[in-house]
Amino acid sequence: MNDTPFPGSPVMPEMFDGGKTIQFQCRKGIACWNVCCSNIDISLTPYDILRLKEHLDITSTEFLDKYTLPYEMEMDSIAGVKLRPVAGGSACQFMTPDGCSVYADRPTACRYYPVALLSMRRQDENVDRDSYALVKEEHCLGHQEPKSLTIEQYREEQGLPEYDELARGWRQLILKKKSSGPTIGKPSKRSLQLFFMTCYDVDRFREFVASEGFQDVYQMPDEEQLKILSDDSTLMLFGFRFLRQVMFGEMSISMREESVAARRSRVAEKHSRLEREAAERLMRDENEMYGDQE
Ligand code: SF4
Ligand code: SF4
Repeated sequence: MNDTPFPGSPVMPEMFDGGKTIQFQCRKGIACWNVCCSNIDISLTPYDILRLKEHLDITSTEFLDKYTLPYEMEMDSIAGVKLRPVAGGSACQFMTPDGCSVYADRPTACRYYPVALLSMRRQDENVDRDSYALVKEEHCLGHQEPKSLTIEQYREEQGLPEYDELARGWRQLILKKKSSGPTIGKPSKRSLQLFFMTCYDVDRFREFVASEGFQDVYQMPDEEQLKILSDDSTLMLFGFRFLRQVMFGEMSISMREESVAARRSRVAEKHSRLEREAAERLMRDENEMYGDQE
């Protein structure tokens, strides 16, 4: 990769590993204080939402309503969430003259800036290193400060190892979805809603896991269920496992016999419907192409 995807992009056209030394410091009193928080475009990870809703002492549903905007990450096939700026403006709702009002629980993107995480090592691979880029925007004077540190040290300073670890399952779901290629037809509204609730609305997902409908389909020992339901992070991680099972058939949660049989017959029915539709389409196309030659 030797050029930026968009001309004039502030992303430096070089990839680094965590050992790269950068020169940067953001500090109160710097002339550009709050400039970056005045014009935001910040995507949130599921763990960002957990931390912020706990900080604000509200439910994830309330947090999503008041502080976020949904968006479509990959040509309307993956649901994402961004911070919603102030009404009629572009500044972050958490910005104050003194800085960030949720600083201890600020999102991953705010912690990383001006470093960008480009790709993350898979959990089952030990060779590949995480890779990063540097973002240099004219308004940000932090690059002129005399402090030098490696990207790894910067990540530690910003509390990022914990944030990255807890978002890993979600990032892997997105990567897997992207690499599995385009879905046949548009993903159903129900599957987008399920992804949204499971990843971002942990309090509604808790109600879903505790519901009779869920218990009817999945078999989970009481002790495990209690553990999952009583801790937001554990519940969130369980959600990623649940989605891997629903989206990619990676079975890790036991299902009741009757549900497995019903699922198999639904899948078989879906496949034969798709095959039927494809055959009909082919016949229609052939008729259109050769119809008048008869
Ligand atoms: S959450 Fe805090 S650091 Fe992030 S944009 Fe808002 S005010 Fe700035
Ligand atoms: S130094 Fe950069 S990150 Fe810090 S306040 Fe200024 S613009 Fe924002």
